[in-house]
Amino acid sequence: MRFLLIFHFLLLVIFSASAEPVLDYRLNPVQVAEDTYVFIGKKEDFSFENGGNIVNTGFIVTTEGVVVIDTGPSYQYGLQMRRAINKVTSQPIIKVLLTHHHPDHILGNQAFSDVPIYALPGTVNLIKRDASAFLDNVFRMVGDWMQGTELFDEIIPLLDERELIGGHDLTYISMDGHTGGDLIILDETTGVLFAGDLVFHNRALTTPHAEPDKWKASLRRLNEMEYKIIVPGHGEIAEDKLPIMQTLEYLIWLEDKISESVEMGLDMNEVLESQIPERFQSLSILQHEFARSVIHRYPVYEEKLFNKQ
Ligand SMILES: [Zn+2]
Repeated sequence: MRFLLIFHFLLLVIFSASAEPVLDYRLNPVQVAEDTYVFIGKKEDFSFENGGNIVNTGFIVTTEGVVVIDTGPSYQYGLQMRRAINKVTSQPIIKVLLTHHHPDHILGNQAFSDVPIYALPGTVNLIKRDASAFLDNVFRMVGDWMQGTELFDEIIPLLDERELIGGHDLTYISMDGHTGGDLIILDETTGVLFAGDLVFHNRALTTPHAEPDKWKASLRRLNEMEYKIIVPGHGEIAEDKLPIMQTLEYLIWLEDKISESVEMGLDMNEVLESQIPERFQSLSILQHEFARSVIHRYPVYEEKLFNKQ
């Protein structure tokens, strides 16, 4: 009996040791249109619990191969994304497009190092400038999920152009405002628009590298565009203009609030305690992102005011 118990114990140790180290993002591609799939992330900030899976990435299966849009927050995410894509199609991955330089969109690049990776010229420069600091930050926030993640910044500059790939008519449009380079991908064949982080849906937007006037102009331009389905960088997929208007309205309110507060002589702590209007209360992690935005944007308006005086 005792021997049997020891044997069971040993089995348990062997089993748990082999089952333990894999952190699984459970990536499940959601089909949003013909040949078009999205991995939908949580409407949260980086945490150990979510491993940084807070972003929407996607792919288009063409007859010439697969076009991937954004690579996610870590090497493991990129690898698991490839595995999930392979379950949908046996086509090879022929191209990766990065919407912008933020870590949740690019730190999976390394898993695609055998594929040409493209981004807007502004994004290429920003990756060179910021990506190594992003890597340190994300390691701190999500820990083990980052195992094996290294910087991969061999990115090819992409220009505004239209190209036909395997039966899909893709238009690449260069915009900015969320960062210094925000790529829009419109698949004219399916009507799917990948908006990157110019558009957040039911989740408060982020502003660490924002230029709000440019961002508002980009959103107004997006609002004029025709599409059937919009894939925001964060939040639910939609068939209407609602995510664009929601992002624009919150951005306008946020900037007005902070600039007026600075003009009125409020200090940063007082601005942090501002009442956020009811109409934005349904946005996820609103208080958290509002506080981050005040920290980013208050000093900008303070400096403007100082220069006026
Ligand atoms: Zn972003």
